[in-house]
Amino acid sequence: MPDSTTATNVQKIRSREPVRVRRPSREEALDAVRTLIRWAGDDPEREGLLGTPDRVVRSYAEFFSGYGEDPVALLQRTFEEMDGYDEIVMLKDIRFESHCEHHIAPIIGKVHIAYLPNNRVVGISKLARLVEVYAKRLQIQEKMTAQIANTLDEVLQPKGVAVVIEAAHQCMTTRGVHKPGVSMVTSRMLGVFRTDPTTRREVLSMFGTPAGGTGEHA
Ligand SMILES: [Zn+2]
Repeated sequence: MPDSTTATNVQKIRSREPVRVRRPSREEALDAVRTLIRWAGDDPEREGLLGTPDRVVRSYAEFFSGYGEDPVALLQRTFEEMDGYDEIVMLKDIRFESHCEHHIAPIIGKVHIAYLPNNRVVGISKLARLVEVYAKRLQIQEKMTAQIANTLDEVLQPKGVAVVIEAAHQCMTTRGVHKPGVSMVTSRMLGVFRTDPTTRREVLSMFGTPAGGTGEHA
């Protein structure tokens, strides 16, 4: 039974969810891919490209499946039986694949999540699923970092939340400035991880990330 604070917070997350837009028909989506193939300079009627629009549209359904999922509903089932456990809960190296909203190019990296529970914990697979819901959308890394941290904070209401993401952006490695091997690190610290330097250092060294030495990047 959620108390009223939780209900208000859940409302807040729901109000930030993407606005529902009119979805084009599958045929319109296939045509759009054919247009992009012509834009690239090739012929969509060429044998090797005939099946491509269908494959691209099916890939999009997978890449962007996060729009159809509710991050709050996902975390709704929590456990209160903790036998006095009051230390950090951490899930490291959650691999994700997302797409940048500026170039629709892949972002591939790892998310590290930690929280300090306050009477409520959630199954660890739910943390990984939460990452998926936000990764399978058009993203920027900073926003994704904040969304994961804020959703955990608002639904679980823990004493603190820390989220660090390290990722390579293919819009940087395969086009534009062409800088392979560069990874971007973003972090969001809430509650005690934000206010207490010792706890913050502890969680960052447990993550073992580049953010460990320098604190918050985003
Ligand atoms: Zn980009």
